[in-house]
Amino acid sequence: MKVIYEPRFNYQLGVLKYLHPFDGEKFAKVVSELDGLNIEIIHPNGPISTKVINEYLNELMRKLVLSKTLVLRALEVPKIPFVGFDFLDKKILTPMRLAVAGTLLGAEKALESGGIMWNLSGGFHHASNLNMEGFCIYNDIGISYQQLRKSGHLSETDKVLIIDVDAHHGNGNAYSFKDNENVHLLDVYNEDIYPTSQFTRNRVNFPVPLKSGVEGCEYLEKLTQALELITGHYALAFVIAGTDVLAVDKLGGFKLNVEDVAKREKIILSHLKTLEIPTVVTGGGGYSKQSASAIAAAIKACSTL
Ligand SMILES: [Zn+2]
Repeated sequence: MKVIYEPRFNYQLGVLKYLHPFDGEKFAKVVSELDGLNIEIIHPNGPISTKVINEYLNELMRKLVLSKTLVLRALEVPKIPFVGFDFLDKKILTPMRLAVAGTLLGAEKALESGGIMWNLSGGFHHASNLNMEGFCIYNDIGISYQQLRKSGHLSETDKVLIIDVDAHHGNGNAYSFKDNENVHLLDVYNEDIYPTSQFTRNRVNFPVPLKSGVEGCEYLEKLTQALELITGHYALAFVIAGTDVLAVDKLGGFKLNVEDVAKREKIILSHLKTLEIPTVVTGGGGYSKQSASAIAAAIKACSTL
């Protein structure tokens, strides 16, 4: 297993960090917790290009992603009159485009090696080719899939699995792949919170809707039951390992602890390894102070896979 990280993944927001509960430095904290563990870290060469992003977005979205007002709305921060688009692009959108490059790199390396690649960022599962919302601007998995098809890493008939264990339903991925029968979704989400679209929830092949307040034991049991429905024949799996399932998280509504998150990732990745499915893990959401520790614990638990 290799970890994908680069210092520019972090969102260095200055005073703006007080406007959002997001811990913009969490990726650096994870890496510092992995220090001395002999885990190889690789990094993308640079942000994914505008050309590649535009290949994925529909015509209208190509314009909307350049609107300061709409980007700020998607990032769920209030309007900030003294901040220009260039500042947003440098401080938030460039780290996000690096994250997209990280997911694509991870997918390529996973397919080439047959192993597991862990991108600390990415997992922007609320964005799609015609929408951005929920702190997600670019759908890294949709963009990666398109590029992998183009480069020949994946064929038209190759099956792809997306396992989404972020606390929120992955509406952007469900929408992105609504017409692609070769992409299957397993989604464990809090059914009581955003996003509530029944259209995208119905697209999930292996849905695990749970109630607010669910604890680790029940969560892991339901996840394990859903994973047992997965059998082989997938060319590639993406995992969205959001840590907003932690009890201390203000948004997710679940009650998992750091050990539960580590167990969760080990259960998922062990299962995929047994089925010999190359896998790229992406970061997903996770806004609490425990988020970095949970990710580091999960990587440690899975480092020998
Ligand atoms: Zn989330």
